[in-house]
Amino acid sequence: MTQQASNISEQRRDIPLSEHAITSDLIHYDAISVVEKLQQAGYEAYLVGGCVRDLLLGVTPKDFDVATSAKPEEVRRLFSNCRLIGRRFRLAHILFGRHLIEVATFRGSADELNDDHVTADGRILRDNIYGTLEEDAVRRDFTINALYYDVKLQNVIEFGTGLEDIKAKQIKIIGDPDVRFREDPVRMLRASRFAAKLGFDIESNTKQAMQALAYLLDDISPARIFDETKKLFLSGFALKTYQQLQIDQLFRYLFPQTARLLQEGHGSQSDRHLIELAMRNTDTRIAQEKPVTPAFLYAVLLWPQVRDLADQLLSEKALSKRDAIMQAGSQMASLQAQKTSIPKRFSLPMKEIWAMQPWFEQRKKHRVVRLLAHPRFRAAYDF
Ligand code: ATP
Ligand code: MG
Repeated sequence: MTQQASNISEQRRDIPLSEHAITSDLIHYDAISVVEKLQQAGYEAYLVGGCVRDLLLGVTPKDFDVATSAKPEEVRRLFSNCRLIGRRFRLAHILFGRHLIEVATFRGSADELNDDHVTADGRILRDNIYGTLEEDAVRRDFTINALYYDVKLQNVIEFGTGLEDIKAKQIKIIGDPDVRFREDPVRMLRASRFAAKLGFDIESNTKQAMQALAYLLDDISPARIFDETKKLFLSGFALKTYQQLQIDQLFRYLFPQTARLLQEGHGSQSDRHLIELAMRNTDTRIAQEKPVTPAFLYAVLLWPQVRDLADQLLSEKALSKRDAIMQAGSQMASLQAQKTSIPKRFSLPMKEIWAMQPWFEQRKKHRVVRLLAHPRFRAAYDF
């Protein structure tokens, strides 16, 4: 890592305003105010990550993230509207009503992480060793996410090949793919997510390592997988992301039973259709700024196995259809919870959706599909 870090820091390039398209009016004023306040207090502070990448691509950023030399406690002292979050990776959230700016302290070289931070097989458990801007750049996931923006000088700061890779439309992990995916296997899901969202390809070494190491996703806690699943399917690119996850063969680590039934189940054709429809519907709702909930997506993604098990229970015992679905639903929800935790506030409405009599009564698949697409069906289960 040390070798890598020094290589990358030598590659620092400052790109002036005349050579890029980021102007201040594209940046949220909350983000500017956070950066300015940190700078006035004598700290280094930059916009970083997805917002810089998206601005360079002419895309409106989803959110603005800040990287700073200030330690989390120092950030908290500076902002009364600050909340510190995360144990594994400590971050500061600066709250402006419902809008928030995420502030991360520069991470230090991975060489300094000891047994307290890293498992024997290289997975990083805690990452709270702080460092310099240069070191921070090496610790980020993909080259296109390791771009910084200096609000005052209006420069883009590049380490590595971020700008080149944006032009080449490729997702390339920073450093040795094997090491970096072992450090945090969730980066593989992120690679698929960015490929789908941006319409980029995953660079070949990065992709090869993903194929070899995908199984490591089995070791990630269900809570973290749930958080990531929300980002995968509730960011406005659900359908593309779902397809990309299939291409990258990662979907099965998120929803193993669903993946199996989609491959070999008797209803696989219409199940696939149903899931794609739900994904498209979710994307449309997000584009229209309508609320969406994981409960709905989970209900759809787990439906094939709930239905199959309910059918089986019905053939074995004297049960009402509704009871069969409820039993099957509980069983399948617990099984899925081993992969992705599903908080009660989502699992309860998910089970209600399954129990919805009309849905089950619609034995014809295409009618189920139509019902699901019906806005009132969605609305009933949204917040
Ligand atoms: P978007 O917000 O559009 O989904 P993003 O790139 O901003 O994309 P975030 O999850 O908001 O993604 O993370 C912000 C930045 O933090 C990333 O751009 C990346 O530099 C860094 N980052 C996030 N997660 C990881 C990770 N698991 N490993 C290394 N760096 C990460
Ligand atoms: Mg972001």
